[in-house]
Amino acid sequence: MATTDNSFDGLTEHCTDCDTDTLHQVSVQIRTESLKEENAEFSREPYRVAECQRCGSRSSQRMNNA
Ligand SMILES: [Zn+2]
Repeated sequence: MATTDNSFDGLTEHCTDCDTDTLHQVSVQIRTESLKEENAEFSREPYRVAECQRCGSRSSQRMNNA
């Protein structure tokens, strides 16, 4: 039986905790950075979150670097 399991977005990336390349589950989270209404335009930033499938360590990176 062919196993084409693409149920999650897995990527091999370097994990600083494992100090080696491991499989990471990658997702995007919208985080609220400011509760001030005046900054509503910039209040929600998409973050790319990668969770190491070996040690469970998470690393997040803001996708908007402008
Ligand atoms: Zn790890």
